[in-house]
Amino acid sequence: MPEGHNIHRRAQDLTEMFGGQKLIVMSPQGRFEKQAKQLNGKQFNDASAHGKHLFLNFSRSRVHIHLGLYGKFRTYDNPPQEPQGAVRVRLIGSQETVDLHGPNRCELLDNTGYQKLVSRLGPDPLRNDADPEVAWKKISSSRAAIGTLLLNQSVIAGIGNVFRAEILYLLKINPERPGHQVTRAEFDALWKLTVQLMQIGVKHNRIITVDRKQLGKPLSQAKSSERLNVYKQPVCHRCGADIYYWELGARTIYACDQCQV
Ligand SMILES: [Zn+2]
Repeated sequence: MPEGHNIHRRAQDLTEMFGGQKLIVMSPQGRFEKQAKQLNGKQFNDASAHGKHLFLNFSRSRVHIHLGLYGKFRTYDNPPQEPQGAVRVRLIGSQETVDLHGPNRCELLDNTGYQKLVSRLGPDPLRNDADPEVAWKKISSSRAAIGTLLLNQSVIAGIGNVFRAEILYLLKINPERPGHQVTRAEFDALWKLTVQLMQIGVKHNRIITVDRKQLGKPLSQAKSSERLNVYKQPVCHRCGADIYYWELGARTIYACDQCQV
């Protein structure tokens, strides 16, 4: 599933591509046809993101998209080819066309619906309005494992399975440690690191948690395993111990039990 950095990057790309244009909007698959008719010919102002939720902001209308496990976008130069497979929404701008396939959610949201949705989400480290205190209050008062709390979108919005493993490894925090045993200093470091890593993720459109000077090659030539420290890695780069993996919060977590106390 895409993590928050993918969605923010998508929002930036759509804003750059379509910002200020009146778009042709259609639903080749038909499941968004009524809404597409309402949006067709309307001005697209910009796209924005909160965690893993993407918003297409048209004048007086907002589309909420959650990609889920299977959703994806495809971009074509105009004139676009015929829609391939089940295309929920096709957006045609002056130069390019974007197709949305298989989203978990794709709906029109009014302001009340938008406020309700966003109020359920925790602070998003990539947003300027994020208030880390909200996340600290939830983590510091919870007996749940920090590895589980980091996947909970109402605690911090945007962290997914790869980021949680990498962040906890870099901070030497065991994923099973209860939230209330995470110190304030550790939380502050966690928030700061999450902001940094997610910003790198937006810039390069991929998760990179290793030191790029140590990588010794251009990013474009690095395999995904070379860009990460612990996720799906066999051994710990720091101490050489085996990396353990197990189910935590319904997803597989990776950690070094020598380094992560
Ligand atoms: Zn280790």
